[in-house]
Amino acid sequence: MARIPFNRPSVVGREYEYLQAAVAGRHLSGNGPFTKRCQQWLEQKTTCRLALLTTSCTVALEMAALLLNLEPGDEVIMPSFAFVSTANAFVLRRAVPVFVDVRPDTLNIDETKIEAAMTPRTRAIVALHYAGVGCEMDSIGALAARRGAAVVEDAAQCILASYRGRPLGSFGRFGALSFHETKNVIAGEGGALLVNDAADAERAEIIWEKGTNRSQFFRGRTEKYTWLDVGSSYLPSEVTAAFLQAQIEEADRLAAERMRLWQRYHAELEPLERLGVLRRPIVPEHCQHNAHIYYVLLPTSKVRDDLLTALRSGGIDAVFHYVPLHSSPAGRRYARQAGDLCVTDDLASRLVRLPLWVGMTDGQIGTVAEAIRRELDVAR
Ligand SMILES: *Cc1c(COP(=O)(O)O)cnc(C)c1O
Repeated sequence: MARIPFNRPSVVGREYEYLQAAVAGRHLSGNGPFTKRCQQWLEQKTTCRLALLTTSCTVALEMAALLLNLEPGDEVIMPSFAFVSTANAFVLRRAVPVFVDVRPDTLNIDETKIEAAMTPRTRAIVALHYAGVGCEMDSIGALAARRGAAVVEDAAQCILASYRGRPLGSFGRFGALSFHETKNVIAGEGGALLVNDAADAERAEIIWEKGTNRSQFFRGRTEKYTWLDVGSSYLPSEVTAAFLQAQIEEADRLAAERMRLWQRYHAELEPLERLGVLRRPIVPEHCQHNAHIYYVLLPTSKVRDDLLTALRSGGIDAVFHYVPLHSSPAGRRYARQAGDLCVTDDLASRLVRLPLWVGMTDGQIGTVAEAIRRELDVAR
């Protein structure tokens, strides 16, 4: 039987046509017509003040860290159940990630534990919306405002997802999206920085363009362009933007198809949850997720490890997610934890992510569900 890969990136619309147009247009460097179209779409969809395409979500987070003017020793609160870039972006500025435990239901940062982790050095809180399910942004936003900390949203997984009807990525001072080939809308490698405060827009653009006012120069707003600030080359080429533009045009259809597959897993696995042999994702009523991830939680880490082995030997590429950052060598070196991280350790050891990609068939979802039933010894 053919393997069921964990992810399969695909061409969904006019990608080849737009790639050809980018080449024919003789503008292959960044910030060209495709980049502008993608950014306009992002600004409209997320309601942010300014969207800047980047070569990854990782560098979008790095730009946010630069824009916050972090000093060595400044602290940034975040979950340990996170991707390495969530922490690395701040460690590069010599800031210290401070890990807080996650909620048992959504696996997002536990908003009730943030304040106890704050010190006079706390400068920012990172809200990572796992699986496109929003963190509790009402309380996080209120706490951050009261304590004078910035909110940065790691919205890598969040395209077209919202919290109380408002797009994820639009709550913090900055939001960072990813278009990596494992995400819902892809460009191979790619991302975007969402700037939500008009006061940050000009500097964000300067940092994006290697510390120069090149963008203003091209808009005719300055006589010559010159070096003004720190910065780097964060722009993707027009080739990347052309591919992304084609995906963006199909974003709603991709979202609907992913949701259909997600719901199918959810229905197939409902009886197993009732039997108590696994737990399915919990999505609070006020969170409109985007079906980015389908995961299950097993009763113990042993059952999880055995299930992963069984699925893989049956040709199904399921994976775990994440190795908690506080338990990694770099996490121990560069970060500290606030309070215990029992929920993080527990959930990360019991989680399995199932294959989910547009183009998967109902038959393949059925095959995965059947393999899970077989391994967990549940009759249909
Ligand atoms: C994918 C991901 C990233 C990194 O995105 P890149 O575009 O690959 O840099 C960061 N944070 C989270 C939560 C992610 O899922």
